[in-house]
Amino acid sequence: MIIETFILSPFQQNTRIVACAETKIAICIDPGERSAEMFDFIADNNLHLQAIALTHAHLDHIGGVTAVYQIFPDADIILHSDDEDLYYDLPQQPLFMGLSPHQLKPLGLDYETPPPITRKWTDGEVYKVGNLSFKILHCPGHTPGHIILAEETKRKMFVGDCLFDNSIGRTDLPGGNYDQLINSIRTRILPLGDDFTVYTGHGGDTNIGRERLSNPFLLGM
Ligand SMILES: [Zn+2]
Ligand SMILES: [Zn+2]
Repeated sequence: MIIETFILSPFQQNTRIVACAETKIAICIDPGERSAEMFDFIADNNLHLQAIALTHAHLDHIGGVTAVYQIFPDADIILHSDDEDLYYDLPQQPLFMGLSPHQLKPLGLDYETPPPITRKWTDGEVYKVGNLSFKILHCPGHTPGHIILAEETKRKMFVGDCLFDNSIGRTDLPGGNYDQLINSIRTRILPLGDDFTVYTGHGGDTNIGRERLSNPFLLGM
């Protein structure tokens, strides 16, 4: 299994290329921005990009979808339907985050409407990437349509902004709900097992066992 992380945007979001080492079939999880370095990595490793796999539709996770799509127009763009409105609202998202229009351009945040979603996640589906099998679990709370991808054989999960090293995702943005997020973590993420490595949307990797013990938001779970 190939996992390469790129930190592209001012939001310090982790964009990842995840691929099956045997078949070279790959997905890009949450392209935050355009990146020549990421495109070089795909080319240098002879990877075939099957899809842009989105955990959720916040701007720091989808800001690079247009750029990836321009280079890989045959790749699926996959999102949960409950985040579709947020996705197509990308040009307005900086305003939700309290940035005024004249601040946007210097920060590179004058986003255009991204290309159409071509496939939607279904809760509980198994999504194949070459010989890898990702279980897709709907985990609302940070956004209504947040999903995680869990590879049960390799014991690795990609959780976007649900769970971080010693923290959890914010729930004060439109569509956020604290109780829902805690419930998603408790009933969907933690039961996958303490030995799972957790690849987060921001910051370093962690694992479920460590978070269960030391994450102040998960005490007693
Ligand atoms: Zn987010
Ligand atoms: Zn984020």
